[in-house]
Amino acid sequence: MKIAFFDTKPYDRQSFDQYIDQYDIEIKYFEAKLNEDTVALAAHADVVCAFVNDTLNEAVLDTLVDMGIGLLALRCAGYNHVDFEAAYDKVHIVRVPAYSPYAVAEHAIALMFSLNRKTHRAYVRTRDNNFNINGLTGFDFHGKTVGVIGTGKIGRIFIDICKGLGMKILAYDMYPSEIEDVEFVNLTSLYQKSDVISLHCPLTQETHYMIDEDAIQQMKEGVMLINTSRGALVQTEHLIDGLKSKKIGSAGLDVYEEESEYFFEDFSSESIDDDNLARLLSFSNVLVTSHQAFLTKEALSNIAQTTLENVKAYQEGRPLVNEVCYHCPEGPTKCEKKENGRCF
Ligand code: NAD
Repeated sequence: MKIAFFDTKPYDRQSFDQYIDQYDIEIKYFEAKLNEDTVALAAHADVVCAFVNDTLNEAVLDTLVDMGIGLLALRCAGYNHVDFEAAYDKVHIVRVPAYSPYAVAEHAIALMFSLNRKTHRAYVRTRDNNFNINGLTGFDFHGKTVGVIGTGKIGRIFIDICKGLGMKILAYDMYPSEIEDVEFVNLTSLYQKSDVISLHCPLTQETHYMIDEDAIQQMKEGVMLINTSRGALVQTEHLIDGLKSKKIGSAGLDVYEEESEYFFEDFSSESIDDDNLARLLSFSNVLVTSHQAFLTKEALSNIAQTTLENVKAYQEGRPLVNEVCYHCPEGPTKCEKKENGRCF
């Protein structure tokens, strides 16, 4: 079985090559992102392996199906970038539902700490022999309130770490469940009472632009916003307005709604044409990282192993336990997984 592997980075290759000998699978690595212009590279493959910023729209999926690709193996958890309606009944789509929720939760905490104690600015100052600490005042997280939106795998680990810091935890989830020392509240209450707000829900029709002008207006003056989930949860222009008016005290962003053009690539010799991204990067109280929250050794190993196991299950005609389909976002009641453990 041959995999056409798109958007390959050195760390992907390293982690997949570590395990490939254990499988009857061949991987052809391509640095190009998958889109209408590059889809032809998948000719002669059986499976396509794609990542978060690959284009998986109807046109690309139709071409893959015409080429005989039977499996699209996402090496990520999120699947908001896939046109499932176009894929259903034609190409199976599997993902890696969990590879290290610790990696993402810990990165959200890293953003919180850096923004609060301004270590990103201190690093630059001391390297320039500037040992002045004016303007670097932070606050104690202990005793402050953190609002967590989305209490799934990552949200819960993030909550555990915040508990260790002595923070009061408020949470909102579409499907709330009992968590010790966590008060589930509605979004208005979470916005009004939180000193820090961290997003850990998926990008769906309901959550698209959930952090907009209206939400920001309800927040505390000087709130810290952390987004390690998906860029389009936040309306970027409204975030910029909130930062300009000082309503938003700081923002830690591992994701950005238009990230596919820039993130994971080196633009250090060029200028940024995206005015919103350039504006965000100009604020000293905004810390942007390039969708790296997942990037730990443990997560990369788990991604490689689960992806290869997903492909092996497909190769052997077994149930696809990590298959996602058209009905998935609507919840388990709509699940039509057939007797053989596949969606169609
Ligand atoms: P999960 O499925 O375990 O948890 C998601 C939670 O969000 C669930 O509890 C669900 O009920 C809740 N939810 C769904 N719709 C909601 C809504 N409208 N409002 C509030 N809550 C809602 O997912 P997870 O593994 O914790 O991952 C969360 C998100 O993190 C993913 O969707 C992905 O976008 C993002 N992620 C980012 C990176 C990164 O590198 N930055 C890596 C992995 C995942």
